[in-house]
Amino acid sequence: MAEVLVYVDHVDGAVRKPTLELLTLARRIGEPVAVALGPGAGNTAAALAEHGAVKVLTHDAAEYADYLVVPKVDALQAAYEAVSPAAVLVPSSAEGKEIAARLAVRIGSGIITDAVDLEAGDEGPVATQSAFAASFTTKSRVSKGTPVITVKPNSAAVEAAPAAGAVEALTVSFSEKATGTKVTARTPREATGRPELTEAAIVVSGGRGVNGAENFSVIENLADSLGAAVGASRAAVDAGWYPHSNQVGQTGKSVSPQLYIASGISGAIQHRAGMQTSKTIVAINKDAEAPIFDLVDYGVIGDLLEVVPQLTDEIKTRQG
Ligand code: FAD
Repeated sequence: MAEVLVYVDHVDGAVRKPTLELLTLARRIGEPVAVALGPGAGNTAAALAEHGAVKVLTHDAAEYADYLVVPKVDALQAAYEAVSPAAVLVPSSAEGKEIAARLAVRIGSGIITDAVDLEAGDEGPVATQSAFAASFTTKSRVSKGTPVITVKPNSAAVEAAPAAGAVEALTVSFSEKATGTKVTARTPREATGRPELTEAAIVVSGGRGVNGAENFSVIENLADSLGAAVGASRAAVDAGWYPHSNQVGQTGKSVSPQLYIASGISGAIQHRAGMQTSKTIVAINKDAEAPIFDLVDYGVIGDLLEVVPQLTDEIKTRQG
């Protein structure tokens, strides 16, 4: 069976959920071989094996922490040359997309970014993407070289599928460009205790209808009752009510959670572009004619400052 390289996103050995989802998709097209780099790479093996990795290629060096993505591209290319895989899968984070794009250029292959599904095809893996602000769903395959595909978080279930997960040290020689751009400082994301917006299974977003920074606590309380991330429309961000890092949409982040709750958001095309692939969409809006209601699974017509606290209370009551 063909091998499929899976680039591992991890923090000090703790494998992030989008990588486990990639393993589910990789198993549809071949045998997953994981590539884990940087501090703690060796500690990823147990989780990767549990989710289907037949082999885990690891490498650590100071270059991964000290420089931008090129050392990682060098290592992924070394893994590619060692394995000759049928495809290379990378999580669709900003860094993942840069690594994938650079690899595709180096190996002369086609690339598909931001896939939301992946299946085996007669002529290679077929990726599903959401295009033109989610107005279309397209299916495509790479017709030149080895497919390099980045996949958005929440695109597949995490499935246990125990495999050997044999750890092998990867041999990497860094290119001259590897040390071309040095990291001079890192500022960690403010610790809110909430999941990362693009990876969260549930996102609760607020828009102009929230009507003030102080009212965002209503959105946060609902998010916290569900273990969700908080999102915001550009109108709410531009008004200074919530940070830009939480903006969902064309010029913000693209999310694809199991559940998206839009509160006081009209549903402009630029907002839809960032959330329309969510599995279940709920909107709370006092205007029954708001365009957001055209795409929802469930809609509540009402004042969010009344509806959202009631919803939060009900959820907390049911949670006991
Ligand atoms: P509005 O459109 O003003 O809607 C507010 C909604 O709240 C209304 O439907 C109203 O009925 C409802 N409401 C008001 N009070 C209440 C209440 N008490 N209870 C319940 N409902 C209430 N937008 C994004 O979101 N993300 C982007 O990334 C983005 N990128 C853009 C890029 C470009 C190039 C451009 C031109 C625009 C972009 N926009 C983006 C802006 C976008 O066009 C809209 O202006 C924006 O999404 C509107 O935000 P909103 O829905 O919160 O506000």
